Amino acid sequence: CGIIGITGNGPVVPRLIDSLKRLEYRGYDSAGVAAVVDGAVERRRAQGKIRNLEAVLAEQPMTATVGIGHTRWATHGAPTTANAHPHKAGRVTLVHNGIIENFAELKAELAAEGHVFESQTDTEVIAHLLDAELNTGRSPLEAFKITLDRLTGAYALAVLIDGTDDLILGARRGSPLVVGWGEDEMYLGSDALAVGPFTQKISYLEEGDYVAVTKAGAQMFDVTGKPVDRAVVQVSASS
Ligand code: GLU
Repeated sequence: CGIIGITGNGPVVPRLIDSLKRLEYRGYDSAGVAAVVDGAVERRRAQGKIRNLEAVLAEQPMTATVGIGHTRWATHGAPTTANAHPHKAGRVTLVHNGIIENFAELKAELAAEGHVFESQTDTEVIAHLLDAELNTGRSPLEAFKITLDRLTGAYALAVLIDGTDDLILGARRGSPLVVGWGEDEMYLGSDALAVGPFTQKISYLEEGDYVAVTKAGAQMFDVTGKPVDRAVVQVSASS
């Protein structure tokens, strides 16, 4: 339902939580965060309110400068901790807003290839597809593009990949996603409000766009894979 991603300097986990709280008004049934901790992606998830997620983080803290967060409004799979995002497969950890309409076919195909699923969500197939493409030796961006082309339905995505320590991949089709521009720091958000605590400089991704965000900036591509620049607009600080 809501997405936030931050790559930058200083501890990001408290800021991910701050942003998720701003997205609470949209409604949600569970929440989670993932972050790069000492070079490996870790995640924490909880059913129910964000304060439940904060309690999990108090027990098992994460210190990181790159991370993603999600509030879930379940469409496929009950609102449990196991179905909460981020979802993980191999090197891939991701959050998703929307619905993957062909997930059942993709899941059957992946299961036949030996992939083992740990949730009932439509989302988890995206992580497995992307991990499989990475395992063929493709770069993160190539693997991401091939994965996106296999999906039907609606998505906004934020993705972390094990082995990278300053990269968040993002994509949108049918669900909104914005890139936020900071000082030596960059953001992804499901809307301007998500990145509102950090920046008022936003690029609205267009239908089918995908993006590689590092703390130095954003490389954007349209649905055909052509590099594009989306306008940077100033939104009001009150949003
Ligand atoms: N369809 C996904 C799920 O049920 C994402 C729901 C959302 O947009 O929060 O997990």
